[in-house]
Amino acid sequence: IETKLPKVGTTIFSVMSQLALEHKAVNLGQGFPDFEPPQALREAVTRAMAEGRNQYAPGIGLAPLREQIALKTERMYGRRISADTEITVTSGATEALFAAIAAVVRSGDEVIVFDPAYDSYEPAIELQGARAVHIPLTVPQFAIDWQRVREAVTPKTRMILINSPHNPSGAVLSANDLDELAAIVRDTQIIVLSDEVYEHIVFDGAQHESVLRHAELAERSIVVSSFGKTYHCTGWKLGYAVAPKALSAEFRKVHQYLTFCTFHPAQQAFAEFMASSPEHYLELPAFYQAKRDRFRALLKPSRLKLIDVPGGYFQLVDYSAIRDEPDTAFCEWLVKQGGVATIPLTPFCEQAPNTRLLRLCFAKSDATMDAAAERLCKL
Ligand code: PMP
Ligand code: GLN
Repeated sequence: IETKLPKVGTTIFSVMSQLALEHKAVNLGQGFPDFEPPQALREAVTRAMAEGRNQYAPGIGLAPLREQIALKTERMYGRRISADTEITVTSGATEALFAAIAAVVRSGDEVIVFDPAYDSYEPAIELQGARAVHIPLTVPQFAIDWQRVREAVTPKTRMILINSPHNPSGAVLSANDLDELAAIVRDTQIIVLSDEVYEHIVFDGAQHESVLRHAELAERSIVVSSFGKTYHCTGWKLGYAVAPKALSAEFRKVHQYLTFCTFHPAQQAFAEFMASSPEHYLELPAFYQAKRDRFRALLKPSRLKLIDVPGGYFQLVDYSAIRDEPDTAFCEWLVKQGGVATIPLTPFCEQAPNTRLLRLCFAKSDATMDAAAERLCKL
């Protein structure tokens, strides 16, 4: 058959998780916690099922959950959004990203993405008959060069897709970055898609610069988040999108035929848990900062060079002192010979980067970190 996605194979996350199993490697590749979600949250899901919440939820999401998301948004970003018209609950951020792109991007349009870019963006863009225009982030800060963005904008530019805190680098956008972006999209038809799945994982006392803090950008943005990242339950696949009323209406047209609604018991559980334990996401920065610092301390004696990590739950390391070869080759060698699964940057880039960097996930228990560090320090 004639393929619509000729460049796409199996995602690097599936490939590396499989290799980790085969080679009994410590898995720091695919980004997921190896510890459990809060017990009260797990109990709430079980209870929701026992109470019979086993049929379709409302398509846009359970009302009390949307209310909690609105409350959180106001508390975090000082912006009051409508639970009725501006929030849609989705099957993970992945669905929200796809629905946002499908709702806005037309055939022949261009979408600006920043490399390394999370791997689901480009296929979603290409399936609309549109083209991803890749702008490399600066190395090693992984910052956006706004001059390059200005030069890349054309009359066909329909969307700019940003991601902060950034996967895989952990870089975060500043308030000034958002002002730069606002100046570029002002007086255009460009919609901003802001992937903020790591919104609650920002370190060293910094605040997350959500697009929702920025009045002008919020008027033309779809902001996407993931309960999987915030509540340690990536397998439940629950996320949401926030957008102004008119944009949400378009988003919901796609969502209602893509999935219609998402897992009902977990929606009820989050509605209860967010109301009873609002401190969970407020404690997340300290929780992950302790993990980041512990992991970095463990790797200090290794020959890996550690890149600064302002947010997210990934550590980039430069391995050039160990072997001088491209990242995919080193990553394969490391999972087979070194017993640690990691993620290279090449699958996130249009052009293979001339860096020697790998991504390691530190959303892990102490025992997993210790086992990985022992192996990494021997290299
Ligand atoms: N965007 C980014 C940047 C991610 O890292 C991830 C998951 N790792 C997603 C989107 C998808 O999130 P979800 O699992 O909620 O679909
Ligand atoms: N987002 C996760 C990561 O970056 C992986 C999600 C997936 O496997 N699709 O590792």
